[in-house]
Amino acid sequence: MKQRFSAFTLLRNGLSWHENWQRQWRSPDPKPAYDVVIVGGGGHGLATAYYLAKEHGITNVAVLEKGWLGGGNTGRNTTIVRSNYLWDESAALYEHSLKLWEGLSADLNYNVMLSQRGVMNLAHNLGDVREAQRRVHANRLNGVDAEWLDTAGVKEFCPIINTSPDVRYPVLGATLQRRGGTARHDAVAWGYARGADARGVDIIQNCEVTGFDIEGGAIVGVQTTRGAIRTSKVGVVAAGHNSVLAAKAGIRLPLQSHPLQALVSEPIKPVHDCVVMSNTVHVYVSQSDKGELVMGAGIDGYNSYAQRGSFHIIEHQMAACLELFPIFSRLRMLRTWGGIVDVCPDASPLLTKTPVAGLFINGGWGTGGFKATPGSGHVFAHTIARDEPHPLAAPFSLDRFTTGALIDEHGAAAVAH
Ligand SMILES: Cc1cc2nc3c(=O)[nH]c(=O)nc-3n(C[C@H](O)[C@H](O)[C@H](O)COP(=O)(O)OP(=O)(O)OC[C@H]3O[C@@H](n4cnc5c(N)ncnc54)[C@H](O)[C@@H]3O)c2cc1C
Repeated sequence: MKQRFSAFTLLRNGLSWHENWQRQWRSPDPKPAYDVVIVGGGGHGLATAYYLAKEHGITNVAVLEKGWLGGGNTGRNTTIVRSNYLWDESAALYEHSLKLWEGLSADLNYNVMLSQRGVMNLAHNLGDVREAQRRVHANRLNGVDAEWLDTAGVKEFCPIINTSPDVRYPVLGATLQRRGGTARHDAVAWGYARGADARGVDIIQNCEVTGFDIEGGAIVGVQTTRGAIRTSKVGVVAAGHNSVLAAKAGIRLPLQSHPLQALVSEPIKPVHDCVVMSNTVHVYVSQSDKGELVMGAGIDGYNSYAQRGSFHIIEHQMAACLELFPIFSRLRMLRTWGGIVDVCPDASPLLTKTPVAGLFINGGWGTGGFKATPGSGHVFAHTIARDEPHPLAAPFSLDRFTTGALIDEHGAAAVAH
């Protein structure tokens, strides 16, 4: 239903507690059966549903979300987008994603606020320098934009950074990906949701998947808090809860779930127009369009499903931030929060079929999957639709943990991202 806007509409909707605004997507009751069920209404699940409909013509799809859309890691992350991973398989997947990002606002007709402001990964010792320069060369061989900056180049690109040699870990240089940057996380979820809904996908919130119906080794349905749904294909895209769900289908995944935190400062005038990350001092910092400094660090060391982390992580992250940016010493912090990230032993994701026919898993993105949202959804939709891995997804299948063909991205996965 189209809605005409006027001062009167504004007043009427305002006075009705905003109940009359046109919804961005429908809120249907679950149907008894679908061709495909996606478990998890984060960015990856919604993107999968969108591309199933758009690229493969499969529109009889439900996205089942136990909470609200984007309420998981999609709405909790620090929005860094880049593609400068070390190994060919990862570079191909993340670069595919970055290319989709570059056209995403136009494709969805929804402003996802991609801001390609440049991402620097700092080097503070000889080991860092060698690893970073190796990665720059590897990136260039894979067609990914990458530059090496010396200390003066770092200072020129980010004048507020402390490049004094008299600190614990002096800045010796950095990799720079100019096409990297940030995007608006909520908009990504909402844009994909609206696009999928417009193509007929049912997006069902407050609907938790509690089990799988499996007959003769194949999926025939899911159990949910809103009843049973029949389907022959299920894509599990549940981030921190992937291993919990897979266990309900009798599958043990090589995943560990950890809390990952982030925080923002009070808003200040624009002062920091790029993204700076440091593995060694262990912090990354950008500035949001609202003016808040957005900061994060690593995971908490223990396993947990609580969406919050420990205080000492925040203390270390602030110390690291001040070492790099003494200019921020009198800023007050506004808010901290956490998400649950699922981490694979090789810091690479799972995009995979499983031993149960019709059951597919997309997870293990750990601390860095936001940047992959469009590419992940795109190749996962292909994998589900054709029942065979997309060529870019094939290296990320479960069997790499039995063949040994691991894709170790611990270095490029960086300080969390
Ligand atoms: C603090 C923090 C900072 C981060 N920063 C970055 C960053 O800067 N850059 C980057 O690239 N990545 C970052 N990440 C990682 C990134 O957020 C995730 O990899 C990515 O968002 C995962 O998306 P998703 O759609 O798979 O997961 P989610 O958005 O978590 O979606 C999964 C959904 O599944 C739902 N679900 C779970 N169980 C069930 C069930 N049984 N039934 C129905 N629904 C269920 C959940 O409620 C959730 O909404 C960060 C993560 C955190 C926590």
